[in-house]
Amino acid sequence: MTLPFSASDGSGPHAIVVGAGFGGLAVAMRLGAAGWRVTVVDRQEAPGGRAISVESGGHRFDLGPTLLSHPDALRRLFLECGHDPDVLALVAPDPLWSFHWEDGTRVEARAEGMEDAVRRISPGDLEGWNALWNEARARPWGGFRGLFERFRSRARGGVMRRVATHLSNEKLRTMMACPPIMVGQNPLTADPELCFPAMTRHGLVAANGGLGDVARAMADAVEAQGGDLRAGVEVVAASARHVELAGGERLEADVVIVGTVPPSRRAPAEALGLFVWHFGTRETADLWPDIGASTMVAGPNIAANLRTVARGRVPVEPLIHLRRTSLDDCSAAPEGGDTFYALVPVPHLGHRGGPKWSGEAGALRDRLLARIEAQVLPGLARHLTAEMLFTPEDVRRRFGTLHGLPAGGHSAMAGTGFLHLVPGPEGGVAGAISGAEALVRNLPLPAAL
Ligand SMILES: Cc1cc2nc3c(=O)[nH]c(=O)nc-3n(C[C@H](O)[C@H](O)[C@H](O)COP(=O)(O)OP(=O)(O)OC[C@H]3O[C@@H](n4cnc5c(N)ncnc54)[C@H](O)[C@@H]3O)c2cc1C
Repeated sequence: MTLPFSASDGSGPHAIVVGAGFGGLAVAMRLGAAGWRVTVVDRQEAPGGRAISVESGGHRFDLGPTLLSHPDALRRLFLECGHDPDVLALVAPDPLWSFHWEDGTRVEARAEGMEDAVRRISPGDLEGWNALWNEARARPWGGFRGLFERFRSRARGGVMRRVATHLSNEKLRTMMACPPIMVGQNPLTADPELCFPAMTRHGLVAANGGLGDVARAMADAVEAQGGDLRAGVEVVAASARHVELAGGERLEADVVIVGTVPPSRRAPAEALGLFVWHFGTRETADLWPDIGASTMVAGPNIAANLRTVARGRVPVEPLIHLRRTSLDDCSAAPEGGDTFYALVPVPHLGHRGGPKWSGEAGALRDRLLARIEAQVLPGLARHLTAEMLFTPEDVRRRFGTLHGLPAGGHSAMAGTGFLHLVPGPEGGVAGAISGAEALVRNLPLPAAL
């Protein structure tokens, strides 16, 4: 890593980082490791950005990300900053997801060795499956060639188009297309490099204790390097060399980096909203033994569903990502119980005439309960103890994002001249971490230094 300074005595230049999400913390770690004095400011009470949790009836509801792609970028961050990546307790789920269809078909999606499942579902698609798999796995990711290939494949259409070119079976198409939803992108328009084989070739992991624990480890690393973390403080204005806090305090620095993307009037074409129904259950630890940590409750036609979302409407039978958090992490639920969430793709708030969540949320929750009970968790209603709905409007309220988007934090602060983090093409948490790496590697030095 080539960075401009290597002072460890506190005499290095001073950087202010606005935002203690994964992106801001990764910037702060890299600068701190290179001898910069770092001050991180966040308006939330704890670091982690969207990776925060709330507690209800003894259940821990993780409001943000649960799966991390490109885990090597995170490990590299720790190693290059002189920290042990083993503190992260990352686990590779196997299977990644279990798909359940209404007609009783079940498939376990794994990063390797899916041929038998393909033969069982649609033998005629095996050739296309292998072609798609090999094509996605062989394509370069990094460097100029990777950039060029991604640009070229994107110009030919999104994930769904690439998948549909190779596969005729609806179930296989659903399996190959679903990963972008996890990072808040619509597979119709998302970068084809986010399709299943391309995404899984770089690894997909969860963390014991949730990704909130990873964010806490990053915050600890920043502080161990001498950085100053100031939580519960809002920045209202900034320039290249200073920030103004909501209470009127002014902080000076050699560089100001905002760990969020600039607010924009329009949401990106590939952006989705996410609706999450968090719920806790009692006396279920021994129930539903074939429901693992991650289940996809699949609907009839994924492309039609995603088109409905792209037109600004909530689909009637969306794909549901049902996560049983307490299976990987027993601290997430009281003894004998479970903690789940059901996540579905919905329109973001940038659509004209989009859903009015005050009325829509309850109705969608009832539809999800009915489908989940019928397809995967019989008797669920009897076991419910706690629940919480998290709509795109809640995302906007809690994280200040303009369109309630799940990815790419926003901040509406006055002023110009400060640097903005640009998330990498991986999307989600991995995109925030790789965007931080790119920013720090290309950091222009302040003229006076
Ligand atoms: C329900 C949900 C599920 C998701 N699931 C996944 C998943 O499984 N995998 C995945 O990779 N991604 C997932 N994502 C997306 C992922 O959470 C985000 O892409 C990622 O956390 C963004 O990190 P960030 O650092 O860019 O932004 P953020 O986490 O939003 O951090 C920005 C920080 O800046 C602070 N801030 C902003 N403005 C100011 C200001 N003026 N003053 C002070 N502080 C300010 C905010 O408080 C916030 O803490 C999910 C998102 C949601 C909502």
